[in-house]
Amino acid sequence: MNAPFAATTLEKIRAELAAKPTELFIDGKFVPALSGKTFDVEDPSTAQIFAHSAAGDAADIDLAVKAARRAFEGPWGKMTPAQRARLMIKLADLIERDGDIIALTESLDNGMPYMMARMGMIPGAAEQLRYNAGWATKLHGETITPSWPGEWQTLTFREAIGVVGAIVPWNVPFMMTVAKLAPILAAGCTVVLKPAEQTPLSAVHLGKLIAEAGFPDGTVNFVTGFGETAGAAIVDHPGIDKVTFTGSTEVGKLIVRNSTGNLKRVSLELGGKSPCVIFADADLEKAIPGAAASIFGNAGQVCAAGSRLFVHEKVYDQVVEGIQNRARTIKVGSGLLPTTEMGPVVSAEQLERVLGYIETGAGEGATVGVGGGRLEGEGYNSGYFVKPTVLTGTVSGMRVVEEEIFGPVLCAMRFGDDDLDTIGAKANATQYGLSSNIWTRDLVNALGLAKRIKAGLVRINGGPGLDPALPFGGFKQSGWGRENGKSGAESYTELKSVTIALA
Ligand code: ADP
Ligand code: MG
Repeated sequence: MNAPFAATTLEKIRAELAAKPTELFIDGKFVPALSGKTFDVEDPSTAQIFAHSAAGDAADIDLAVKAARRAFEGPWGKMTPAQRARLMIKLADLIERDGDIIALTESLDNGMPYMMARMGMIPGAAEQLRYNAGWATKLHGETITPSWPGEWQTLTFREAIGVVGAIVPWNVPFMMTVAKLAPILAAGCTVVLKPAEQTPLSAVHLGKLIAEAGFPDGTVNFVTGFGETAGAAIVDHPGIDKVTFTGSTEVGKLIVRNSTGNLKRVSLELGGKSPCVIFADADLEKAIPGAAASIFGNAGQVCAAGSRLFVHEKVYDQVVEGIQNRARTIKVGSGLLPTTEMGPVVSAEQLERVLGYIETGAGEGATVGVGGGRLEGEGYNSGYFVKPTVLTGTVSGMRVVEEEIFGPVLCAMRFGDDDLDTIGAKANATQYGLSSNIWTRDLVNALGLAKRIKAGLVRINGGPGLDPALPFGGFKQSGWGRENGKSGAESYTELKSVTIALA
């Protein structure tokens, strides 16, 4: 199979990245970190360092926040919603124009299959902008009929919250970055965004496109750097009105604690340990590949991954065998190879974490049904490749069942002719509540279980996961607030009640 991209494009990207470190995007300009420091950027398929990025810290965050404030109080804040929408749509077009460059950069940086980035993340990011551009002109307050006796009128204003700090993870960096920006811009806010230190590169290209589209300087600022320095400075900064974070539950809790200085608003999209429940009557031709894709897609590095499988005992063997067959045949490799279906995990740290969990599971009495270790051999030895893995004989209480692994590791369990309350209780036996999957042809079981599951998303028979129009977020320790949809755009606004005495 031929590579689906031009080799010259890849060479050009590599040469540009090798020539000099990428810079911060602050106030419409690319600048080095004030400290002059940079950090290494690694290709997880080879463990080679192929780029360096500016290591921003508190001083750079402060400059970016000031630029964002000036833009908010100045040119961006003064634009009409329709003008903002037009710029957002222009940015969406530029992202599609540069789709090959962005997808290659993303694949090099994160390891994800190029085709997944090119065919999924690029159009997905563009649609996030177009969808939210629609909200720019449709966010408004209401006139309200007051309850209090007397002649007066009340109305609400819905106003942009101000300067937003956004902190994003490394699993789907470009898509996540754009999905954060889109509702923030629709609401009329400005933003300082920190990409994850593992994957800083695609945001840098986005900075170029933001400048080209003609957004006023300071509307969007990107500060690459580490969580403990640049990230912590965002959380601490008194000039930031809201922090939006996607990442681990552990860091989410830290952010809540560290954001109290000015009581900035906080929204959190955190971890998950999402159930996938397959009833005996399910269409197994769809349920088996669906359940496999839900845990092996993006090497399991997905917050909504279906990592706990519950199958009715009548079809348990057939389903687990089917998923294991899929695991055996998934083509794992460098994201740049045209045949690759699953890339490496993002880093040595993540590799160790996933392998550590597999070992823990075996130690707790789980059986490795398939996979269960690092991939070795030609093309694999230096990269962070994990075999798609299914653990059977898992029971609640095991760490592999309770904790988020964030890798291609599925825990398979069975259930009998239980009532929906019992099945729901099994599905809910986790601190998390982000997503869930149900496979059945029976409407009563499907909707009955959907009502019982405590999670922000229920996907029945492979219904879509992320959609710009669909609210997304967690119950329980999977987070605070909802992204996407109307609620996502409104989450970057404050409501102001205005009362007028008419007599
Ligand atoms: P993971 O452990 O999978 O890398 P994290 O939650 O640590 O996930 O990282 C997600 C994002 O949070 C990254 O951009 C990271 O730099 C950032 N981050 C990590 N620690 C902190 C912190 N103490 N304060 C703010 N941001 C942080
Ligand atoms: Mg971490």
